[in-house]
Amino acid sequence: MVTTRRVLVTGGAGFLGSNLCERLIHEGHAVLCLDNFYTGKNENIAHLLKNPNFQILQHDIIEPLELERIDAIYHLACPASPPHYQADSVKTLKTSVFGMVNMLELARKTGARILFASTSEVYGDPLEHPQKETYWGNVNPIGIRACYDEGKRVAEAFCMDYHRQYNVPIRIARIFNTYGPYMRADDGRIISNFVTQALRGEPLTVYGDGSQTRSFCYVDDLIEGLVRLMASDYVGPVNLGNPDEYSVYTMAQKIIALTESQSAIVLKPLPEDDPKQRKPDISLAKEVLNWQPITSLGDGLAKTILYFKSTL
Ligand code: NAD
Ligand code: UDP
Repeated sequence: MVTTRRVLVTGGAGFLGSNLCERLIHEGHAVLCLDNFYTGKNENIAHLLKNPNFQILQHDIIEPLELERIDAIYHLACPASPPHYQADSVKTLKTSVFGMVNMLELARKTGARILFASTSEVYGDPLEHPQKETYWGNVNPIGIRACYDEGKRVAEAFCMDYHRQYNVPIRIARIFNTYGPYMRADDGRIISNFVTQALRGEPLTVYGDGSQTRSFCYVDDLIEGLVRLMASDYVGPVNLGNPDEYSVYTMAQKIIALTESQSAIVLKPLPEDDPKQRKPDISLAKEVLNWQPITSLGDGLAKTILYFKSTL
């Protein structure tokens, strides 16, 4: 394993970022948590502030950044929930593209290794199932999800070209749907919506007929994958996610049962370009990282429900 000392986490006050900061601090690294607090929250990282190795830097990655010494960069900054990334789609594109260039330039100048948090959305509405890293995807380049999907695709291209042209040590994680503590109650994604609705006794909002599928990874497993990828020698995209696939409707039923809620299920219109199915092929991650998820859906949801009970 590579021992990193001074680690920059962009988007460190967000859902994945705050879980990652916690892990890195526990491992004894000095962590600089960069965020513009668009979807990130101070509460997610407040408990880390008492640690002298933890620092916050309020900064927007659309602007260039100069730092003296950084050994590794986990580049996570970007809103990830469809309602949040579509609320200011131009800004999302700028964050994905200009932000990526600014962070790659920082890596180039400091010699830091950089891991980019890409997404399964690069596969769009996939025609290949499950999705392997070799699949080029089926993305609507002008639809309402394009600011996120195409932004991430351009960012991956920048990573590969900075590697080929300038030899910047890059890592690319293609992250599939992940859930767990430190998600916002108003994040808008499926698990946080369904759990908070169930706990409040409100109807669970299933979009479309709920037959579309996703594969859900518990956050601790995902963070373990990110840390292993950063330490590995593998250059190029690696899928990180849990291959267990569920329909959206089944997920609503499971969460109602686990929360012992009296909530009903209501059907709402399916958002434009909502992918019909998604499931990672994680053979590559197993091979090069010796990684696979170990948390069952039941255990992960139980921890997530406890978290939302304590925060609502
Ligand atoms: P999140 O919205 O909770 O966190 C994103 C963080 O980035 C927030 O703290 C936000 O304030 C910050 N941010 C946004 N724009 C910024 C900017 N211009 N400058 C500085 N900070 C900015 O989302 P998340 O779920 O934690 O996702 C983190 C990363 O992982 C994102 O890049 C996302 O695309 C990727 N990802 C997440 C998932 C998932 O299921 N959680 C799946 C695929 C990819
Ligand atoms: N979804 C839903 N109800 C909600 C939130 C999401 O039915 O309240 C559906 C959404 O249409 C999609 C799936 O759940 O089919 C996953 O949505 P999410 O926004 O969590 O992630 P993504 O679409 O980016 O995979």
